[in-house]
This record gives sequence, C-alpha cells and structure tokens, in this order.
Amino acid sequence: MSLDIARHARTDASARRLIERQCWPCGRPVCPRCAAQKVYALAEGRVRCAVCRYTFHSLSGRFAGLAGLTPRQWLRLLELFAAKETSHAMAAALSVAYNTAYKAATIVRLAILAGSFDGLAILRGRLGRELGFSGKTLRPVPADAPLADVPVFGILERGDMVFVDYLPDMTPEDMLHFNLHFSLPLSRLGAIVYSDRYQSYQTLVTCGSEVLSRRFVEVAGRIPAVEPRQEGFWAYARERLVRFHGVTARKFPLYLKELEFRHNQRGSDILPILLANLCAFVPDLN
Ligand SMILES: [Zn+2]
Repeated sequence: MSLDIARHARTDASARRLIERQCWPCGRPVCPRCAAQKVYALAEGRVRCAVCRYTFHSLSGRFAGLAGLTPRQWLRLLELFAAKETSHAMAAALSVAYNTAYKAATIVRLAILAGSFDGLAILRGRLGRELGFSGKTLRPVPADAPLADVPVFGILERGDMVFVDYLPDMTPEDMLHFNLHFSLPLSRLGAIVYSDRYQSYQTLVTCGSEVLSRRFVEVAGRIPAVEPRQEGFWAYARERLVRFHGVTARKFPLYLKELEFRHNQRGSDILPILLANLCAFVPDLN
C-alpha cells in the first residue's frame, strides 16, 4: 500500500500522527534511553520517562530531530527530495531559509547513508566526521571546504543491485600508482576520476583529488570498461552526476550513496523508505 504523504502533510496534526506512528509503532511513546513505555505527558508533544526521567519527544535521538523542521515540513521536504528537487526549491516551497533546507536535505542523505550496507562503518570513521557527522550532532561543513582525506569507492554490481563500497584503505594515490605502473585505465568526469575493473569492482571512483586529476595517464586505446555501457549503475550515475554541476569532493560521498539507494529502489515508491530512514535513531558512535 502506498503511503499518501501528501494527504498526511495537509495539516500539522495529521503529519505529527504519521511521524509518531513511524517512531512509535506500538502506538505509544517509548523512552529512547531505557525503552520504558510508562511516561507522563508534558506540553507540546513532549513526554517524560517514568523510569529514568528522560524528557523526550517523538523525534528525540532520530535523524529528523537534527533539524528544526516541523513534522509537516519534513513530509513536504521528503516529497520534494523524492522528486529530486534542489535545496533552493525546497526552501521556497517550505518558506524556510536556504541553509535550513540545505541542512535538512543533508540529513536525509545521511539517513540514506546510515541505512546502506556499509553506512555505519562510514559514519563511525573519518569520513563520517568529514561529512559533518559526530554522534548526536550534525555540523555542516561548507560544501567547497577541502577534505583531509579524499575517499575512494568501489562499485560492484550483482544482478539488479549495486553496492557502492567505501574503501577506507584505498587512496587516490593508489589509483594513480595502478595507472602509472600497472596500466589501469582511468577516465575523468569533471572532478570525478574513475577506473577500469579492479579486482571484484566494476570501477573505482573518487572525486576531488588534485594529484589524480593532474597526473594520470591515458592508457593508449583503452578506456574503463564501464564507459561504453549504456545500462547498469554507471550509465545511470554518470547522467545524474553530470547534472549535479560542480559536485564537490565533500558532497560526492553523499550523492554517490543517494544514487546507490535510488538505483536499487528504482521502480518502488521511495517515500516510505525515506520516512523510515529519517525516523531511525541516529547511531550511537561511541
Ligand atoms: Zn527512560
């Protein structure tokens, strides 16, 4: 059954009910600290745990709690996100500042990443901190600020599914080394550099490495095997990455994981999944 988010987004009360149902599927508040169900109601949707005294609301400790949007604004934003609207369009539609819409869209992307196969490993590591994520908080970093370490991803396709694996032990310098010494073909798409097949991966891909984009050598007559393909993930991702004009190194991992998600869910209604990801607890990184 499809989730009629537009209908729930019509009023504040129905949007809040939908979000509460997502967060508390048993139908009543559950303490996020001790899992107790005995609570006292306070004002404005907040409750206090009768066991540990923690005061919380439906979004406490969850991705959706990282930005100050109302439940109704979140539902509208998810619809716009699913329709691939920009943060500018979201800001205009929700009558909020651009920075608020941008932060909210970033939270949706982080929630998608957290729900992916290697999402927790990414968030727990250096890359998670580079993405502005540190446990229960989000500190957005300007999109054009350089990364301390430029990450490399391996793209693996199995049937209809794609896996975009973060490779923490691989660096752009390694890709350059394979290119110069082992003739691994590389190609460029703006600031993005991608390779021919490497071990089990169809391609290695990275974005924003200055050493790599300056120095790699075109291997005569050879291009990465993903290049001529008209179908599969790279053809899909390539077309969309070209449209994200000037994708920066810092935003690239979030875009790439978003594309992995959209590709694997193509043909399904992604709104219920986005809502579930957004209402999931932010992982405890300690
Ligand atoms: Zn409690």
